Amino acid sequence: MRSTPVTANGHQLTRLRFVNCYLVHETDGFTLIDANLSGSADDILAAARALGAPIRRILLTHAHVDHVGSVDALLARLGPEIEFTSNARTLPLLQKPPDKSLLPGESNEPIRGSLPGIDARPTRLLTEGERYGSLLCIETPGHIPGHLAFLDERDGTLYGVTLSPA
Ligand SMILES: [Zn+2]
Repeated sequence: MRSTPVTANGHQLTRLRFVNCYLVHETDGFTLIDANLSGSADDILAAARALGAPIRRILLTHAHVDHVGSVDALLARLGPEIEFTSNARTLPLLQKPPDKSLLPGESNEPIRGSLPGIDARPTRLLTEGERYGSLLCIETPGHIPGHLAFLDERDGTLYGVTLSPA
């Protein structure tokens, strides 16, 4: 897994050349944005260790397989004090099997992409405009209902930019 600094506050971790997750510095350690493919937990933990800070929380942009693959393994390794954060719209998409029902007002397009589901349930849910550490939460549902992007207001970096469709 390749670790690349993207700003003074953020590091991009890349697997298979195009699957990314991010470590964002906060005062108490890292917020991990997304959890990459399954089998990535050891590499993600090693990357944080190499950067000299612990992962304090896991934050999801959305429920697709390349973003949630290592959530359960990471939470098992990091322990129960780790906060796991998503939003309410993503909850049914994280179930096993996922509930792909559309809500009133959403596109009539079926929800696309692989949704493997995870065992863990988020311990905190964010809403549009909420601040999470240094990150401003922005709803960006074009890629999939519930998709979130996060603006690091310290340096203007927008995490979770995903082209639509999947
Ligand atoms: Zn996706």
